[in-house]
Amino acid sequence: SDAPTLTFRTTDLRGRSLGLAELRAAMPRLAASDGSGVEDVVRGIIADVRSRGFGALRDLAHRFDGVEQRHPRVPAEALAAALEGLDAGVRDALTESIARARAFAEAQRPQDVTVRPAEGASVTQRWVPVGRVGLYVPGGLAVYPSSVVMNVVPAQAAGVQSIALASPPQKDNGGLPHPTILAAAALLGIEEVYAIGGAQAVIAFAYGVPAGADERGDLAPIEPVDVVTGPGNIFVATAKRLVKGVVGIDAEAGPTEIAILADATADPALVAADLISQAEHDPRAGSVLVTDSAELVERVRGELAAQTSRTKHRDRVLTALAGEQSGAVLVDGLDAAIAVCDAYAAEHLEIMTADAPAVAARIRNAGAIFVGDYSPVSLGDYCAGSNHVLPTSGTAAFSSGLNVATFLRAIQVVDYSESALRGVAGHIRSLSDAEDLPAHGDAVDVRFGSR
Ligand code: NAD
Repeated sequence: SDAPTLTFRTTDLRGRSLGLAELRAAMPRLAASDGSGVEDVVRGIIADVRSRGFGALRDLAHRFDGVEQRHPRVPAEALAAALEGLDAGVRDALTESIARARAFAEAQRPQDVTVRPAEGASVTQRWVPVGRVGLYVPGGLAVYPSSVVMNVVPAQAAGVQSIALASPPQKDNGGLPHPTILAAAALLGIEEVYAIGGAQAVIAFAYGVPAGADERGDLAPIEPVDVVTGPGNIFVATAKRLVKGVVGIDAEAGPTEIAILADATADPALVAADLISQAEHDPRAGSVLVTDSAELVERVRGELAAQTSRTKHRDRVLTALAGEQSGAVLVDGLDAAIAVCDAYAAEHLEIMTADAPAVAARIRNAGAIFVGDYSPVSLGDYCAGSNHVLPTSGTAAFSSGLNVATFLRAIQVVDYSESALRGVAGHIRSLSDAEDLPAHGDAVDVRFGSR
């Protein structure tokens, strides 16, 4: 038969001593495309939405989603009807997922701190939620009700007062977002939902859309938000990058990826199943095995061949496993495996070794770490309590997955008495003179009548 065969390349780093840049270059990963064509498209959409408002949104929904739309706001009755029609098993699963995510998110809320540098002086760091957020839930190729949960729950736990959600209009749901997405929003108590997809959703949230009118009457405005979060395709990711600074965004998300750090004790059937489950997302998804056991690599390859022959999205999985972003990496031992995983900074990192908790504790760079045979990434995708919106493409070296802090700012509050200010007045004078900003010193002296 002409059934596609499995390709899962090995990169052999044994006996080599590589610096960080060389390690990063040696790891399987997609070369970052410059995305300039996409950037031009998104800049065009920004200009269009900002100048023509709802008229632009109407045209974009027609062009990209194939629907006719007067105003993108989802009516309250449609949200209620979607919740009414939600499958009971899915409703139970979402309810459990929400409960676990909420318990974890609420426990993350940081404490305010106050320090008193001197008698009568205090500085406080006060955590305050942003006022309004726009959450994007993708809905092009697949629907992700779990992403509704993962975006909404930390925003609610942070205390955000105004939460709006957008997801692409679906031709076969009368131009509304997918019913399961609407049902998940309703289950979480979200009332402001828009049928807007792609870059235009991010842009509508970032700049707002002013009130308009057409022959049938008024069009209610979309108010601008402070923070836009959520995963999405290259148009969504590019729009987020271009509006960053106008609004806050969460980590930029590229194609999803898993690294599995395993030793000779790992079960090859579990390793293969988890590599395949990640590859199922996207032909560009990365599935990487890091190990010091050449025998494990061979046994995992056998399992991959067997398991891919019976998996539903076989072509997509085989494409992802054969890509330059996937494969096995052979290293000299556990220390080298940890160094390689830190250099790679995986979105998802599974540890399948003897004493997995001890190995996990040594990892410095990962979006999320899954410890041992009974903590697969699928658990984290849906029901662990952790968040599944995580930094990809090595950005876990400097950024975090979605969490309560994504929706908070720390305001620093300064409160000094007269005598406390007098105590540092001389230092302020010295530093303001040293910076040639003498009016700074004058602003202190004037309070003590010495100017
Ligand atoms: P999407 O909602 O991100 O994008 C669909 C929208 O893209 C359309 O509504 C349209 O407006 C726009 N679009 C399509 N073609 C366009 C074009 N040629 N020009 C301009 N705009 C265009 O849905 P998707 O495409 O299915 O992508 C979803 C992505 O999100 C996937 O890559 C998936 O892996 C990812 N995802 C990630 C997570 C996570 O937590 N990391 C979770 C869920 C989904």
